[in-house]
Amino acid sequence: MSRIVYVNGQYLPHADAVIHAEDRGFLFGDAVYEVCPVVGGRIIDEEPHLARLERSMRELAMQPAMSRAALGHVMRETVRRNRVVDGSIYLEVSRGMAKRDFLFPATDTPRTVVCLARSHSPDKLEALAQKGITVISAPDERWKRVDVKTVQLLAPAMAKEKARAAGAKEAWLVDAEGFVTEGASSNAWIVTKDREVATRHANSGILRGVTRMVLMDFLAREKLRITERRFTIAEAKNAAEAFVTSATNFVMPVVAIDGQPVGEGKPGPVTLQLRRLLVAAASDQVAAGSST
Ligand code: PLP
Repeated sequence: MSRIVYVNGQYLPHADAVIHAEDRGFLFGDAVYEVCPVVGGRIIDEEPHLARLERSMRELAMQPAMSRAALGHVMRETVRRNRVVDGSIYLEVSRGMAKRDFLFPATDTPRTVVCLARSHSPDKLEALAQKGITVISAPDERWKRVDVKTVQLLAPAMAKEKARAAGAKEAWLVDAEGFVTEGASSNAWIVTKDREVATRHANSGILRGVTRMVLMDFLAREKLRITERRFTIAEAKNAAEAFVTSATNFVMPVVAIDGQPVGEGKPGPVTLQLRRLLVAAASDQVAAGSST
């Protein structure tokens, strides 16, 4: 079956899905996006993802492209037309097409909206989670507004290439003071030897991950001690466990950092418990027939 892509009001065959050469997303990285997991054909955590997209747009003084309900419809329709059962949905909104100029075009310039759906094998993901991934550390070279989910992803792409060259899956970015901010495309967490679960505070240097937010609620319910605080690579290497969170990976154990095993060098019990809780919560959303 050929893939279908939504572009500005049309569901097009993949080969025909094009945007204009003077689109500001292409010229200036002037675009925001979201990625949501799809489980059992349903979009998980649709509402918080769309709320974050709206916030990203507000922060960039970008007018809404369409209502939240209409965007939700586009996403669900793209999932349906691509017959995605397990996978992810990508939604991007750019400031639109306008003669190349740094200054923003008129606010009524139609925004460009693109939506792509993709299938992933849940079995492969689960197998990876049982093994865990390795990460490297890399300097955080991104712009300062990383709280806004923009498509300006060259610095994270370079960090991930560096990780791949070192045989690792993800890069943990380190700020000028030596503290981990987050992964190139994930939030970073550690579990200390006295079972404190720590992740950086979301008010500086990181994207407020939706998975992070959902997990915080679970942690509170599981009566695990959560601390929003900074940690260094050295502390993470000495932690009992480490993991990353993101929409496509849920909770993914980290078993080594810069070649040094974390804890016993295998996925830790707290991490796997949190992964089970999150995966079960996604299934509950599917069972409840809800996509919020
Ligand atoms: N941090 C960064 C830089 C990301 O790119 C992502 C996801 O793409 C995340 C964190 C995790 O966010 P979420 O859980 O909403 O996918």
